[in-house]
Amino acid sequence: MKDSCFNEFDPSAINVDKAISKILFASKIKNRVESVPLKKAYGRILAKSIKSNKNIPNYKNSAMDGYAVNFIKQKNNKYIFDCVGESFAGHPYRKKIKKNQAIKVMTGGMVPNSCNAVVMKELAKEDNDRITVNSIIVENQNIRFPGEDILKNQVVLLKGKEIDEVDIGILASLGQSNILVYSKPLIGYFSTGDELVSVTQKIKKSQVYDSNRYLLHGLLQKYPINIKDYGVVKDNLVSVEKKLEKASNECDLLITTGGVSVGDADFVKNALDKIGKVDFWKIAVKPGRPLAFGKIKKCLFFGLPGNPVSVVVTFNLFVQTAIRKITGQEYKNELSLDAKLESEINKRKGRKEFKRGILRNKNGKFFVKTAGAQGSNILSSLKDANCYIELDENINKIKKGGFVKVIPFSVSSEYYE
Ligand code: AMP
Ligand code: MG
Repeated sequence: MKDSCFNEFDPSAINVDKAISKILFASKIKNRVESVPLKKAYGRILAKSIKSNKNIPNYKNSAMDGYAVNFIKQKNNKYIFDCVGESFAGHPYRKKIKKNQAIKVMTGGMVPNSCNAVVMKELAKEDNDRITVNSIIVENQNIRFPGEDILKNQVVLLKGKEIDEVDIGILASLGQSNILVYSKPLIGYFSTGDELVSVTQKIKKSQVYDSNRYLLHGLLQKYPINIKDYGVVKDNLVSVEKKLEKASNECDLLITTGGVSVGDADFVKNALDKIGKVDFWKIAVKPGRPLAFGKIKKCLFFGLPGNPVSVVVTFNLFVQTAIRKITGQEYKNELSLDAKLESEINKRKGRKEFKRGILRNKNGKFFVKTAGAQGSNILSSLKDANCYIELDENINKIKKGGFVKVIPFSVSSEYYE
């Protein structure tokens, strides 16, 4: 199928890297913080680095079920110990262990300082409090030492980190019940277009269901933010301006879709020009060239194109950069890899292009092909895709068998064969 959109090279468009650096410059961290209970900290962004105030573990303990022993090295590796007590997790043995004595110990049980090894249960024979071991014992074997996991005063988690399940485990092991995180910024969105109909209404020919607000709602889910849906706005300057004014007064970041190019019904850029400041509005990228970025007072603004594929791609490329920054996270480059093309790719020079691709792993080698028709109106092509194929400005054609840069949507994408 042919791509339904052929755009020309536009000398006034800025390149992707320049756009990202402008977005990073304009987006400031919101320094509002709050303390949340540990379980509510999942997915939130740490507002203060976490330093350990204790060693983890905080006592010498056993890595095995067996016997903690005080041994003297025997050349023939034959040992006999008197078993004088036991140490279970949470129930330590407090007395001193003399030479050639042992205590029964369970995993996690405290090992007295006077013990210099733990022998696993399977290598010891117990008979009336006499423990016989006929194998080599190495000093400190099977003992976990204080601070082995985390040392006292060690910086364990850095400010700006998104708290995941492992971090929650670590914070719990440090005894932190409340965590200081950045407060959630408010992100709003609305769609523009006279042709748009709500999903609850009947549709006529010449109308389109408003899918962009649902796309955006989904795209925003993974961020530590509050979301507000401002509905649909008609294609006229006054309505767009009014809605922008209201939403920008409430939000930290505002996203619109549609009405941003140079058609007779495209009012978003003009409205932004009037009540805010346009930073840039053309990027040399496909999909997504008409994209207005700027500010309305303190509110960051993204006017995304109306085509649904462009919404997803420009969100992933540009909007998420700003969201990460205002939520307190660092900029990160996406993971990319080189894959061999399974079919020829054509493009025009002068613009970077992000094609939707299907990546697979065959015997340890990566192969990629485009995922169906690439028009920016064809959302179904994204459904089957598991990666972007990133093609630089100066590329115009790559033959089958050539290598391309690929950005997987997620490292767990199922592309193994
Ligand atoms: P525009 O950027 O307003 O010129 O719109 C470009 C294309 O995207 C048109 O075909 C619109 O009908 C379509 N479109 C715009 N907004 C939406 C939306 N919210 N949901 C679905 N399609 C849309
Ligand atoms: Mg429109």
